[in-house]
Amino acid sequence: MTKTAITVAYGDGIGPEIMDATLKIMEAAGAQLDIETIEIGEKNYLAGFTSGIKPEAWQSLNSTKVLLKAPITTPSGGGYKSLNVTIRKTLGLYANTRPCVSYYPFVQTKHPVMDMIIVRENEEDTYGGIEHQQTDEVTQCLKLISRPGTEKIVRFAFEYAKAYGRKRVTVMVKDNIMKITDGLFHQVFKEVAKEYPEIETESYIVDIGAARIADTPERFDVVLLPNLYGDIISDIAAQITGSVGLGGSSNIGDNFAMFEAIHGSAPDIAGKGIANPSGLILGAIQMLVYIGQPEVAERIHNAWFKTLEDGIHTGDLYKEDLSKEKVGTKAFAEAVIARLGQRPSTIPAVDYNKESSKRIEIKINETKIAKKELVGVDVFLHFYKDHKNADTLGNGIKNIKSGDFELQLISNRGVKVYPNGNPETFCTDHWSCRFCSLKMDKPGTYADVISITQQLTDAGYDVIKTENLNTFDGKPTFSLGQGQ
Ligand code: NAD
Repeated sequence: MTKTAITVAYGDGIGPEIMDATLKIMEAAGAQLDIETIEIGEKNYLAGFTSGIKPEAWQSLNSTKVLLKAPITTPSGGGYKSLNVTIRKTLGLYANTRPCVSYYPFVQTKHPVMDMIIVRENEEDTYGGIEHQQTDEVTQCLKLISRPGTEKIVRFAFEYAKAYGRKRVTVMVKDNIMKITDGLFHQVFKEVAKEYPEIETESYIVDIGAARIADTPERFDVVLLPNLYGDIISDIAAQITGSVGLGGSSNIGDNFAMFEAIHGSAPDIAGKGIANPSGLILGAIQMLVYIGQPEVAERIHNAWFKTLEDGIHTGDLYKEDLSKEKVGTKAFAEAVIARLGQRPSTIPAVDYNKESSKRIEIKINETKIAKKELVGVDVFLHFYKDHKNADTLGNGIKNIKSGDFELQLISNRGVKVYPNGNPETFCTDHWSCRFCSLKMDKPGTYADVISITQQLTDAGYDVIKTENLNTFDGKPTFSLGQGQ
């Protein structure tokens, strides 16, 4: 077998110890790897590289296109950017998968039956980090959900289910509240699902969905989530298997992939030789499948199961009544190596075949260009006079007009407060003033937007930003103020 070039980063804290253990196991199992090492993490941050990675390291990543990464320490204090987010975004790693599996009775858990794969969208949502303070009182974070970004991750979830013989894909969104952003995610899910009639689908509002995962995780198979919910729920799901220390994850893009443990660099136990290398081993197993060495992945995975079954446990898992031997990182790796070629007797053995090793290649549809019409504008103002009184503001700007656009309503934090607001509604200094034709049936032009903001500015109002109100193929695509 020809060797596959990969890039390896030893990371910080327990990183070097668990990476050593993982590489030794892969070598003993016959993995054919040509390893290039890069340095990332704390030292680079402290040397002034704000993303924790030096320019030279990108050369290695660009040539191997596969990174096996140990956890790193992000120094505390401001000014440092998340290395993980930088790598995911720079390399277009849009799909994060985390298998969350219980190994009862060998690992204690309240949920003995659990075998769930979380597929998390990795690039969009609030993770663009596009944030602004807009007034003295109000900050905002932009949540961006795109049709192509969503279509990619939805197709990935279905293709993953197909490749790994999974039966059902469950999506979780909050489209009862975020009808446009989460609504798009849900809509694309429903559209793509039609192309996979052999796979069952279901949808949950994310709050009750998360509660069900915590309560009855055994009923979930593949769970598909937008970025923020996926970040939170995948930690919950990993934790309830009994230990986050057993989680490995992959980050997959069109041309690049990164594999890692889900835990951090555990500085509290670094250098003691007691860390559990299992999370990184499971990440490496996913990597071996990805680079087309599924038989090596299978040997390691089954030997790892057997080690757990034989009660050879690192300190984080050790329980007197369950475990036989408490071992450190190195001895655990040696125990796995000694069991290569063996299969577990209680935990179901894995069987990685050619199908699971096939790269998931996603093709998405061209976005349809709709007929777009400007039917109004929300002008956001910073206003605090007269104890932030809605009527004072409304009466002050009610005569401002351009073309058919005139003041229809003012809302504050999404609640309509003018005209005829409820005096009980709590108002901040951040107001959204909607200008449009009264029935929103007469389009205007961007010149109307400019004219309205100019008139407001001339009258002494502090314009923070505008959001155009558009229809796409005649359908309104903006939210109404609560109470409108
Ligand atoms: P952590 O996951 O490092 O540690 C949490 C607890 O779990 C600690 O008590 C630790 O000893 C234990 N633990 C973690 N991994 C273990 C293992 N393999 N074996 C045994 N015990 C283990 O989380 P933290 O303390 O919040 O973060 C420490 C550092 O790691 C921070 O700088 C954080 O930014 C970073 N971090 C990095 C990544 C990553 O690189 N992917 C992920 C999360 C946190």
